[in-house]
Amino acid sequence: MVNTAAAAAQFEDRLYTEYDLKGRVRLAIIISMVLFVSFLLLDWIYTPQYIRTFAIIRFSVAGLEFLLLILSKRTKSHRGFLNLAMTMVILDAVGIGIMIQVLGGFLTSYYQGLNIIVMGMIVVIPFAFREAIFLYVLTWAVYAVPSFIKVFSGQAPLVVNGASIELWRFVINNLFFLTSIIIVGAVGSHSMDSTRRRELRSRIQLEQTTGQLQESNAKLKTLDELKTQFFANVNHELRTPLTLMLAPLKVILEGRMGKLEAGLKDTLETMLRNGYKLLKLINNLLDLAKFEEGKMRLKIKALNFIEFTASLLTSVKPLADQKQIKLYFQHPPHDIELTIDPDQFEKVLLNLLSNAIKFTPRGGKITVYIEDKDRTVSLIVEDTGIGIPSNMLESIFDRFSQVDGSMSRAHEGTGIGLSLVREIVALHQGKAQAESELGKGSRFVIDILKGEDHFPPDVLDRRQEEQPVGLRRRTSDTQEPRVQDIVTDARRLQLVDLERVDIEGPSAATKTHDALILAIDDNPEVLKLMKILLSDEFDLELASSAEKGLAIMREKSPELVLCDVMMPGMDGHAFSRAVKADDGLKHIPIILVTARTGADMLAEGMQAGADDYISKPFDSVELKARIRALLRIRRVESELAMVNRNLKMRTSDLVDQQRSLFLSTVKSLVSAIDAKDEYTRHHSTRVTEFTLKIAGRMGFSEKETSDLELASLLHDVGKIAVPENILNKPGRLTDQEFALIKEHPSRGESILRPVVELKDISRVVRAHHEHYDGSGYPDGLKGREIPLGARIMSVADAYDSITSERPYRKAASHRFAVKEIIRCSGAQFDPEVIEHFLEISNALVQEQDQGPAAGGGA
Ligand code: ADP
Repeated sequence: MVNTAAAAAQFEDRLYTEYDLKGRVRLAIIISMVLFVSFLLLDWIYTPQYIRTFAIIRFSVAGLEFLLLILSKRTKSHRGFLNLAMTMVILDAVGIGIMIQVLGGFLTSYYQGLNIIVMGMIVVIPFAFREAIFLYVLTWAVYAVPSFIKVFSGQAPLVVNGASIELWRFVINNLFFLTSIIIVGAVGSHSMDSTRRRELRSRIQLEQTTGQLQESNAKLKTLDELKTQFFANVNHELRTPLTLMLAPLKVILEGRMGKLEAGLKDTLETMLRNGYKLLKLINNLLDLAKFEEGKMRLKIKALNFIEFTASLLTSVKPLADQKQIKLYFQHPPHDIELTIDPDQFEKVLLNLLSNAIKFTPRGGKITVYIEDKDRTVSLIVEDTGIGIPSNMLESIFDRFSQVDGSMSRAHEGTGIGLSLVREIVALHQGKAQAESELGKGSRFVIDILKGEDHFPPDVLDRRQEEQPVGLRRRTSDTQEPRVQDIVTDARRLQLVDLERVDIEGPSAATKTHDALILAIDDNPEVLKLMKILLSDEFDLELASSAEKGLAIMREKSPELVLCDVMMPGMDGHAFSRAVKADDGLKHIPIILVTARTGADMLAEGMQAGADDYISKPFDSVELKARIRALLRIRRVESELAMVNRNLKMRTSDLVDQQRSLFLSTVKSLVSAIDAKDEYTRHHSTRVTEFTLKIAGRMGFSEKETSDLELASLLHDVGKIAVPENILNKPGRLTDQEFALIKEHPSRGESILRPVVELKDISRVVRAHHEHYDGSGYPDGLKGREIPLGARIMSVADAYDSITSERPYRKAASHRFAVKEIIRCSGAQFDPEVIEHFLEISNALVQEQDQGPAAGGGA
């Protein structure tokens, strides 16, 4: 509340200050005094008879207003000034009012003076609405009140041009104008007042916003400075211990501390190389920090630019050769002198060249041109590499910008190189630009001014002493090894990213451990690390791409695969999918290794079929533990598969056993049937033998033969339901009895059908009394409708019946039986079956001729 009141007071104060209330009030008083007095001239012309009275009135008002003017000198507050202004208006109005009355009241044109007051109030003094209204009402009253008094006092009407007009008509006439002017004045005052207030409010708001912006800006600036400072300090702190690690490493590698065993040397070299990479990164970051702080200085000197470039190209050549990239240099025949900072410019050129090598595929071409122009020299590095999309041509010079941030980024990098290039070139007052056609190549153009006048003095470092790159010097630095101490060849440091390590192939020629592991990573250093970490416990195969990994898997069938996720070409996820879709490989567990973490990444990997996930940098203990766990699971799985196989085998054994048990049960059952019928003893067994002989000739398979065997053994099982006295009846059977006997095939089927295994057999049993011509029973089946087994069985059954003794007849001879059967060919029997039967019967005859008759024959 207090605050809002104070704020409102402050607002009013500001409003009037800005509008210069004090000055305006003083001006208004002076104008009023002058006008009041100078109107004496009008009095002298218009009403000379009242000149003295009017002079007194006018000088009195002017005198009082002069007092107001003096008072205004002492007045401090805006309120006070407003009061002075109000008093002035009252004085003016009263003065004019008196003069109107002296002149006879409402008929005089002196009331126009009141109009002047109203106009003056709107224009000169910023009265608030309420004050203005008060003054307008007062002004109106000064004229209206005495006029009405006059009208109502009964004064005679005036005669104008011979016509008599009532007084009130004159009063209304004048009041009409005065009131109109006052209304216009009130509206005008109000709108001007609110416009002033609105304007001030917007201005205050604007000022506040600007203030806030300035404040945030200042804060950001401080933060930015702090960040840059912190950045520089941290980098420095990183560089010192790194230098202290690399320096002794270098001494060891140079053999100054004794001869090194090959494996150890290899490992130490990897450490040194990666230390260099880190050092390069830190140096670049320090340089960036220096640029950001605006503290980078150049140590310029004039040099032969062609020689300078040629020497750098010589350093780069072996790296280009390694990738079978051709390196060309085209320059004018004459020397070109340029003034540059050689150390800094070396970074420019090496960055451009190392990018060109990095982004140009094997067999490509890099050309460096130097073009001598009027005032400038252009250095152009052109390659036939992958190119840069046109929308990225500008932004690749931004810090940390890289063309493809996706998973399949084929090259390492931080996106700092080109931003340093642009900063260094800009410090040389030059220009760096890129042109490119995607898929065809890129062209980087650096324009450098000739001479040295263009260097502003504040970018030049005039000191003689060498300063380590981007490093704030401290006293402690002098005792520590410096970059120059360990990196004698600064160019190697710049190009260390391009150094290639060949690592693919098996870790050891012979198998020394239980499990063979395949590691896939496009970074040879990581493969090397895997080898160092894992080769004491596992045999290792290494592959630099997923495609190569798949080939090794097919050839060597490793127990487990470790695969990097982000790789050029086929990435880890695609690799997992390919493995899991291949029946020959899908049992091999995969562990994906990635630098990116997060639930999404994990889910994607697992969905692709990976068995586990480990993130970089990985801990060797954890990695080994995960490998062991997966191998254990894999072994348990294969043991389970083996147990499963054994179980299946045992189950099929059991089924076989069950079947043979079943067969022997069936055989006992058959003996029981045969025993019921003393005449047909062993009939089923003989029919079976005969049936199988014919089936053997007709090429039955093992399963078909074994089913047929069962069917014929059981073909008369339905006779169990036929009373023995009927079966053994010596005389003729009654129709009823015969009908009962004829039921035995269908009864046999009903007995066997419920046993699932005997479904097919039961059909054969049911059909064994069917006739080829359809005259048999129980279903009257015809020709091939009758199961083949039943057709064979009916021949064997008939043969055995004819040749064995029955209660109602004697046994017939073999020849008779054969004749009978042939006679019935095509009617009762299948002619094709009879053909085979005859072949067997011939053999039987021969047997009988050689020895005693078999079964119930002859
Ligand atoms: P980086 O460390 O990633 O190489 P740079 O600042 O040197 O950082 O390059 C920024 C990006 O510009 C690179 O990641 C690459 O995408 C693109 N680039 C630079 N030089 C080339 C080139 N010669 N051919 C194709 N792309 C390039």
